Amino acid sequence: MKETLILHFKPWLDMSTHRARILATAIVASLSVGLLSFAVNADALTDHAAISKPTAALKARPPSRFAELVHTIRRGEVLGAILPRYGVTDVQAVVAAGKPYADLTRIRAGKDLRLRFERDVPHPLSIAYALDEDRTLVIDLTTDPPTARVEEVEYETRLEVRRLTLTSSLWDAALSAGLRPGDVVRLAEIFQWELDFNTELRNGASFTIVSDDLYNDGDFTRPGAFYAVRLLNDDKEYTAFHYVSSDGTEGWYHPDGSASKKPFLRSPLEFARVTSSYNPKRYHPILKTRRPHLGTDFGAPTGTPVRAVGDGVVVIAGRSGGHGNRVKIDHAGPYATSYSHLSKVKVKNGQRVRQGDVIGLVGSTGLSTGPHLHYEVTVNGNHTDAMKVKFPTSEPLPASELAAFAQVRDRWMPVLDGTAPLPVPNDGLVDGQDALADGD
Ligand SMILES: [Zn+2]
Repeated sequence: MKETLILHFKPWLDMSTHRARILATAIVASLSVGLLSFAVNADALTDHAAISKPTAALKARPPSRFAELVHTIRRGEVLGAILPRYGVTDVQAVVAAGKPYADLTRIRAGKDLRLRFERDVPHPLSIAYALDEDRTLVIDLTTDPPTARVEEVEYETRLEVRRLTLTSSLWDAALSAGLRPGDVVRLAEIFQWELDFNTELRNGASFTIVSDDLYNDGDFTRPGAFYAVRLLNDDKEYTAFHYVSSDGTEGWYHPDGSASKKPFLRSPLEFARVTSSYNPKRYHPILKTRRPHLGTDFGAPTGTPVRAVGDGVVVIAGRSGGHGNRVKIDHAGPYATSYSHLSKVKVKNGQRVRQGDVIGLVGSTGLSTGPHLHYEVTVNGNHTDAMKVKFPTSEPLPASELAAFAQVRDRWMPVLDGTAPLPVPNDGLVDGQDALADGD
């Protein structure tokens, strides 16, 4: 039988956490899983030994009675074929126990099953299967029937400052700085009311990001919470701080306490390209007459989600002449927005919508030459150029929040400026800004 199995041995007390993995080889011989030949991965052993903290003290401990065996699932392998080889006979019971959390009949190739053994016991005490990066499903086989629980990964957090500059693409710069695609989306969302990452980021644009980084067993996993970000683009500087108000609302705020979030999005499409601008004197391509173009057209494939640019109430949802399938939203104040030629309408007349809600999908219904979104903005019922309209800006933080916000800002501003190092964790926190407290 050709198996590559990595054995991780841990003292009993450490089993419940994912930290400080301690490895020992002594137990291999005494494990009574005789059918299997174990290849202990020397690299993994050195690796983990290096990060276990009090090394000398650990060496003095007696070998653990417990061992963890890692089985990497191969393509086409099912639980019913794997588990009996490790001494588990009632696979059905394992599947049943896991059912509230995961369908174990559909385990994924490439993922690991971690089986915990006790010396002289011929079957595992438990089986662990990662549900996602942060959660592991553990099936306890010491109960009858087996029981399941979900364990959360306990990350250590460390503050980190990243500085990255766009040379070729934002993705390249971000990935080489240890960010993930999801982090780029987070950045784009912070700045989405101020600029469009698809069309407005210039080569040479630079980001400074203060975040937690998440570590598992001493290994960097991914960036955690973002606390402060700065973008320098085209000679413009954008700085924002994450702040949690005393009532628990979270948001991003400029240094003066004004919200980065605004009541209206800059565009109803996340990835937008203007194909035809607002033009009250346009020559219409289909009607072949001079006919005003009272909206802005965005080219996008059929099915692209269309977002409500602001909170409001739906006043049209359905067929509307040359507009085809259309949604119109009444917003607070004098503003209304309209979205035409949709392939699908996802809201109903009279429905309340929030900024960012998907209200329909791009299509080519009505008087249209191909898939695109025709987007209109009216102010007091008068058509206006959607790309030039001055929407209201956000409410600033209330005066009662400003002192606490100033502390958060003054903590991070010098870090962004590069004039101060990262603050030491636990050095006097503002209520609600417990980010630093997690740095244990
Ligand atoms: Zn149009």
